[in-house]
Amino acid sequence: MPDSTSLQQPEHYDVAIIGAGMSGLAAGIRLAHFGKRVCIFERHNAIGGLNSFYAIGGRKYDVGLHAVTNYVRPGVKGTPLTKLLRQLRIDRDEFALCEQRQSRVSFGPRGECTLQFNNDFALLESEVAKTFPAQIDGFRALVETIRSYDDVSLDAASVSARAIVRRHISDPLLEDMLFCPVMYYGSASAGDMDFGQFVIMFKALFFEGFARPLDGVRVILRVLLGKYRDAGGIRRMKCGVQKIIARGGRVAALVLDSGEEVLATHVLSSAGAPETFSMIREGEISEAGSAVTPGAVVPNESVGGSGAAAPNGKAARPHSFVETISVLREQPAELGWGEDTIVFFNESEKFAYGCPESQVDVRSGVICLPNNFAYPEGQQLSEGLVRFTCLANPQKWFGLPEERYRADKAQWFAEIEKSARRFLPPLAKTPEVLATDMFTPRTIHKYTGHVNGAIYGSPEKIRSGRTHLGNLYLCGTDQGFLGIIGAMLSGISMANYHILAKE
Ligand SMILES: Cc1cc2nc3c(=O)[nH]c(=O)nc-3n(C[C@H](O)[C@H](O)[C@H](O)COP(=O)(O)OP(=O)(O)OC[C@H]3O[C@@H](n4cnc5c(N)ncnc54)[C@H](O)[C@@H]3O)c2cc1C
Repeated sequence: MPDSTSLQQPEHYDVAIIGAGMSGLAAGIRLAHFGKRVCIFERHNAIGGLNSFYAIGGRKYDVGLHAVTNYVRPGVKGTPLTKLLRQLRIDRDEFALCEQRQSRVSFGPRGECTLQFNNDFALLESEVAKTFPAQIDGFRALVETIRSYDDVSLDAASVSARAIVRRHISDPLLEDMLFCPVMYYGSASAGDMDFGQFVIMFKALFFEGFARPLDGVRVILRVLLGKYRDAGGIRRMKCGVQKIIARGGRVAALVLDSGEEVLATHVLSSAGAPETFSMIREGEISEAGSAVTPGAVVPNESVGGSGAAAPNGKAARPHSFVETISVLREQPAELGWGEDTIVFFNESEKFAYGCPESQVDVRSGVICLPNNFAYPEGQQLSEGLVRFTCLANPQKWFGLPEERYRADKAQWFAEIEKSARRFLPPLAKTPEVLATDMFTPRTIHKYTGHVNGAIYGSPEKIRSGRTHLGNLYLCGTDQGFLGIIGAMLSGISMANYHILAKE
C-alpha cells in the first residue's frame, strides 16, 4: 500500500526562501507585504544565521554582533539604514539603536600609531591630518572618489581597491590602517579586495557608523520576525532544504531534509553561492556541487596585490575567524579600559589579512567592548563584556578530535587575550571573570552551513543575484552586501528586482 503522505500534493509557495538570516527575513517581509505566499525554510531552530544569539548558563550571547554598521542619525536620508527601514515599514525607534562612543585603529607593538573615529566623519579626517599631514590632500581626494562611486550598481566589474587607494595615498602605513577595519568587517578575499566592496564598507564604517541596541541582536530579530508574521509570512524551522531539483533551466522543486518535496514559483537562497549550487541536482549540469555554474555572473577582473584572489575567485586559501568572549563582573571603564567601543589592532606597521599558516593569527584583530555604547541615561549592560576577534585558518580547526579541539581552544583563548590586551590601557584592577566562551570556524560552519566557516562568503560576489536557473536567485553575503544592514538590504533588493518588479 502506498504511504499516505506520498499521495498528498506537494505544498506550493509563490516564493521559497532558503535561510532565516538577516537577508532571508528581510526578503520575506518585503514579499509578504506585497501579498506573496512566502515560506522561509531554516535548517536550525533559531533565526538570525550569522547574527543570531544563544544562551549558556542563563546568559544570552550574541553570535556575531560587534556593532550594527551603517548607522545614521534620524533625518539623514538616502542611506542603507533609512532605505531598509522604509522598505520594511519599520519605525527606527523599534531597533532602539544606541551610538558608539568612539573607536580607533591602532598599529605598532602597543598601538603607538592611532587613528580615532566615531560617527562624525570629521574626527577621522582630523586624525589623518594630525598623524599623516603629508597625506591629507590625498585622503580627501580618496574620500571624494568614494563618495562619487556607484556602489549599488549590480553589474560593476571588480577592480583592485589597493590600486585605487594608492593613487591617492602614498604612505603604506596609512593605507594599511584604512584597510584594516574595512577588511576585518567585510572582506572575503586576502590582501586586497574589490574597490566596490571597499567603498560599501568604508561608507558603512566611516561615513555612517556604529550603533547597537542595549539588548543586542535579539531586538532586531524580534522586530523582523514580528513584521514577517504580521504580514502573513510562513516559517518552517528545523527544516533544511537538501536539494534543489532543476528541470529545463528552472527550479522544479525543493527537497527538504525530511524528504518532503515542495514547489515554488521563485526561490531565493541566502545559503551562500557555492552552498546553493551544491544543492542543485539536474541532468544537464555536469557536476552538481560545482561552484562555477553556467550563467552565474562573475566579475571579469580579479583584484591584485599580495595574497589576493586569483582569477575567477579561486582564493589561495579561504580564511575565517575565531572570537573569544569574556563576561566580567566589572564594567570595562572601571577596569581602566576607557571608553573605546571597537579597536582594530595590528602589532606592526604592515598589515597581513588572509588565511594564517597556524590555527590563529594573533598579530592583528578586533576588540569589541559592548558596554561602551551611549545607552540611554541610567541604562547599561549589567555585566562587563569583552570580545576579541582574530583571523583563523579553517582547515586547521576542522576534523580535530573533540579533546584536541577543546585543548586548542583553551590555548588560543589565552594567546588571543595576551595579544589583544596590549592594545588596551593597563588594567586598574584584576577583572573577575564570570564566564567565557569562544567560537571557531567549526562553530560557524556547524550553525550556518557556510563552507570553511566563512563569514564574508566567497571572494567573488554575484551582484545581480542571478544564477543559471531562471527562477533561482541569491541574496545575502554572496550577492555582495555584507553585515546586518547590508544583508537585509540585499534581501530587499533581490526580492524587489527579481520578483516584485517583474509583475
Ligand atoms: C562572528 C561574527 C561577527 C559579526 N559581526 C558583525 C557586526 O558586528 N556587524 C555587522 O553588521 N555584521 C556582523 N557580522 C556579519 C553579519 O552577521 C552577516 O553579514 C549577516 O548576518 C549575513 O546574513 P545572511 O542572511 O546573508 O546570511 P546568514 O546569516 O548566513 O543566513 C543564512 C541562513 O541560511 C540557513 N541555511 C543555510 N543552508 C540552508 C539550507 N540548506 N536549508 C535551510 N537553511 C539553510 C543558515 O542556517 C542561516 O540561518 C558578523 C558575523 C559573524 C559570524
